[in-house]
Amino acid sequence: MLDALLFTKTSPLLSAVYPDCLWKVNTKEKILYLTFDDGPIAETTPFVLDELKKWNAKAIFFCIGKNIEANPEIFQRIINQGHSVGNHTYDHLNGWNVSDEIYFENIEKCEAVLNSKLGTRNPKLLRPPYGKLKPSQYSKLKSEYKLIMWDVLSFDFDLKMQEEKVLQNVLKNAETGSIVVMHDSLKAKSKVEYALPKILKYFSEKGFEFSAL
Ligand SMILES: [Zn+2]
Repeated sequence: MLDALLFTKTSPLLSAVYPDCLWKVNTKEKILYLTFDDGPIAETTPFVLDELKKWNAKAIFFCIGKNIEANPEIFQRIINQGHSVGNHTYDHLNGWNVSDEIYFENIEKCEAVLNSKLGTRNPKLLRPPYGKLKPSQYSKLKSEYKLIMWDVLSFDFDLKMQEEKVLQNVLKNAETGSIVVMHDSLKAKSKVEYALPKILKYFSEKGFEFSAL
């Protein structure tokens, strides 16, 4: 499972393990779903927002609760620009490494922050950090949240990955209905700055739209 998640293109065998997660959107329209995890932070999120705006693109931001609290104005910019936001836990916990009790508590803490800004959301989107859930966590959370995974991983978080390779990971693998993982994090900053403008241009010129969920 650990290694299976670390592919540029998610295997259908893997997505079948967690069938109630959304791995890709079933659509015939030329739509891509860009997702940005781990923000909002001052160093990266405003850049992402500016680039999305240039192409009238919408995206989904899976926010860390403590980052929302630290950067409320940037979070508000995400909302004002019409993007969707989702829960990415309060402290970016790995579900495999903590008890269910601690994990659920941390998700609720992030959800409380989101609720305080937005009121009750429908649907409530959640992406587990690292895509990792124990079966017990999966079965509880899928009844309360819309679990959003991905079919294309950019690897922008990988410090050893070249910027051009990150770009190609997305250009070569994204297709109609794809959910693409990127990060508005410090680790991903230089790669996102390189790849995002080119991704937006390439797919916009091919007639794709970028949509929120
Ligand atoms: Zn994350």
